[in-house]
Amino acid sequence: MTKRDYYEILNVNRNASESEIKKSYRQLALKYHPDKNPGDHEAEEKFKEASEAYEVLRDAEKRKVYDQFGHEGLKGQGFSGFQGFDDIFSQFGDIFGDFFGGGGRQRTGADLRLDIKLTFTEAAFGTQKEVDVNKHVECGHCHGSGCKPGTSPITCSTCRGTGQVVRTQGFFSMSSPCPHCHGEGQTISDPCKDCRGQGRVINKKQISVNIPPGVDDGSRLRLRGEGETGPGNVPPGDLYVFLHVEAHDFFHRDGYDIYSRMPISFSQAALGAEVEVPMLDGKTQTINIPPGTQSGEPYKIRGAGIPNVRGHGRGDQIIQLIVETPKKLNKRQKELFHDLADIDGKPVKEILKGFFQKLVP
Ligand SMILES: [Zn+2]
Ligand SMILES: [Zn+2]
Repeated sequence: MTKRDYYEILNVNRNASESEIKKSYRQLALKYHPDKNPGDHEAEEKFKEASEAYEVLRDAEKRKVYDQFGHEGLKGQGFSGFQGFDDIFSQFGDIFGDFFGGGGRQRTGADLRLDIKLTFTEAAFGTQKEVDVNKHVECGHCHGSGCKPGTSPITCSTCRGTGQVVRTQGFFSMSSPCPHCHGEGQTISDPCKDCRGQGRVINKKQISVNIPPGVDDGSRLRLRGEGETGPGNVPPGDLYVFLHVEAHDFFHRDGYDIYSRMPISFSQAALGAEVEVPMLDGKTQTINIPPGTQSGEPYKIRGAGIPNVRGHGRGDQIIQLIVETPKKLNKRQKELFHDLADIDGKPVKEILKGFFQKLVP
């Protein structure tokens, strides 16, 4: 089954604002909500589909990835779509929470940036890169709790575990993070010796980055949950991978099309010829140059360019045929060119010795 376009699902155009997307999703969600359509399998599917589309398009980063790479871009980069109804309902609560002024996002650790260099062909056909990232990860000794194994954190006595302290001034009460536990609601009396109570340690982690075919210089991937683990058992942020693509010796790229130059001789251009041209995949292909080809004329091989990153089709390979004027001619070649010039009836500069002697008795 092919996945429908997220914009199409939500019935909004590609430059729809955040609030348009939200509004449209809300309408669909209310219409297809399983509570309103008990036992209606189709409505349930529609509800799931709309929720998935909304989950992506509401998030500026995911939306960017989707705009650039389509469904393929979200696949394998940590966006696995929906696992089940739990996800949908938490999100459903989220959107209505937003409307009623609630909400608030879960805290995560810091995002990380990673730069990866790719060859021209790696970018074209996709690849897998193993990279080492030094980052904060959950402490293996205390499993992120920050407490010496066998002990547990104690509830903060100042805020009684709420993480907030409330001060009342006249009619107003103001709350602020608890100064004793720094808003955590609990304190550690016996810290883990490996992480000194932080719950995280700096470690080298090998990450496998799946690069989809068709990415270009400047493309960006997001690996969810591969960023830094925050202090105090906070889930990790995301890892952003910036791609840098090296130039190719023969090809240059414009969108999904690739361009190359192919030198041909005068006679090949005039009479037509079969020539072998190098392809992106390292193979060669024979092309038929038609008689009367002009220098600079393009020859197109359809579908031999860069695969589209959204997974549909490939660009073209465009070969610019360059007629090369010979710089050195042997005697025989000179004679033939003179014969040609004669037939053309156009004057040429150099006079052949033998030719000249024939004319002058
Ligand atoms: Zn620890
Ligand atoms: Zn406290």
